[in-house]
Amino acid sequence: MSEPLRYDKVLIGGQWVAAARGTYPIIGPASEDTVALAPEASVEQARAAAHAARVAFESGPWRSMSASERGALLRKAAEKFRSEMNGLVDLTIDETGAVKPIAVSQQVGAVALRLEKNAELAGLLGDEALPPRELAARGISSGLVVREPVGVVACITPFNFPMTNCAGKIGPALACGNTAVVKPAPVDPIGVAELCRIVDSVLPPGVLNFVCGSGPDIGAALTESPDVDMISFTGSTAVGSRIQETAGKRMKRTLMELGGKSATIVFADADLKRALSGAMQVWTFHTGQICIAGTRLLVEASVYDEFTAQLAAAGKTLVIGDPREAGVVVGPLVSATQRQRVEHYVAIGVAEGATLACGGKRPAHLKQGYYIEPALFTHARNDMTIAREEIFGPVITAIPFRDEAEAIAIANDSDFGLYGYIWSGDTARGIRVARALRTGTVQINGAPPNPDAPFGGYKQSGVGRDGGRYAIDAYTEMKYIGWTA
Ligand code: NAD
Repeated sequence: MSEPLRYDKVLIGGQWVAAARGTYPIIGPASEDTVALAPEASVEQARAAAHAARVAFESGPWRSMSASERGALLRKAAEKFRSEMNGLVDLTIDETGAVKPIAVSQQVGAVALRLEKNAELAGLLGDEALPPRELAARGISSGLVVREPVGVVACITPFNFPMTNCAGKIGPALACGNTAVVKPAPVDPIGVAELCRIVDSVLPPGVLNFVCGSGPDIGAALTESPDVDMISFTGSTAVGSRIQETAGKRMKRTLMELGGKSATIVFADADLKRALSGAMQVWTFHTGQICIAGTRLLVEASVYDEFTAQLAAAGKTLVIGDPREAGVVVGPLVSATQRQRVEHYVAIGVAEGATLACGGKRPAHLKQGYYIEPALFTHARNDMTIAREEIFGPVITAIPFRDEAEAIAIANDSDFGLYGYIWSGDTARGIRVARALRTGTVQINGAPPNPDAPFGGYKQSGVGRDGGRYAIDAYTEMKYIGWTA
């Protein structure tokens, strides 16, 4: 085996400096080998990175630049990333375990798209005239609503789409004139280090900072730092609520993109073949490690047995294996811990009396790697743990419903509210049900995702909205300036 790649530096105030606590190993999910060494920063370095971002915000050129100048630099960062991105695919597969098509498109390709999109966002930051109506009509007074950056944004991200997620935070944060400190998930931070290297190379020093570590203390130090004004967090609801508590003490702004337990609702009048392929997609995509997965599969009783039988049959034919191999659909989970978590929930599902219709075991032909066969539970109820808690792996819980009202009631009976999927031959009904769901997004009949749309969760799935121009609300303060002659 070749020597693992060594990443032992963090980025503070425009300088790559040695991580104070050395390095820690990054374990490849497919090989279980050390594929890289990642920088182990100290808490003091996390604080120093936040302070460097503060200095760059207060006295650097970034915040006072015009939005179009910032947009031009973000476009340059996107171009630079595009020119280097093919070289990052192997690394991404190594550390995340993503199958190659996902690594190429959603893990790496999506980063360039996100940076480009956010370069456009800078152009949307204009002032809005808002004179007091009565007085303005008489020429006495006028007013403006202006958007200003929040300040220093700590961008704390999860493991599933490390670079894409990071780009989705630094893009709007920087476009709006903030400075940032990035803190990726411990298990796969190397792509994010590369992304930060590329973006930083075109920015004034200190605008973008990067710290990394194997434990929660680095993220916690950023959350607590008096230099941080806003925490843009994507991750679990448990960690998100801890961050909210800390942030609340100083009234820091937060954007919280958290967990989900979304419903896929299949009505009997749907094109069942398409619905089946939609259900397969959300079941197996990135081995179920996706926040928007429709892991509660609600199927109208009249077609429940047929639909779930077909799904179980299709599940058994899924090609599981080395993420680099052509034709492989399901790669490994990201870590041993994540696989234990999935196995734990599979055991709970069986103990609670749901039927394990397929999967849930380690594939016999794969001796190495954190693989698990996608699992389908049938004859399940919405009060079972496997229907209530986020598993974050390829496990679907299929629950029958009698009619539209019951489908809506079951879908909404959840602590989460991130996404919803509806399959019906009646679009009017689809829209009616979509309006009734308490979730941030609903897709009907496999409608494609819309990058210009707002994205975020209801209930414990999050606070605030990302996505397209809607991100401006999260990453800016609004100021009203009124004047009279
Ligand atoms: P996680 O909550 O364990 O970790 C997320 C990040 O928080 C990591 O960088 C971690 O190091 C950091 N962290 C941990 N403890 C911290 C603390 N006390 N203070 C500050 N930071 C801390 O999440 P994960 O396991 O990496 O990712 C999976 C979760 O992310 C799932 O719940 C999934 O639904 C969620 N997710 C949500 C979205 C969304 O857009 N809603 C997208 C992707 C993933």
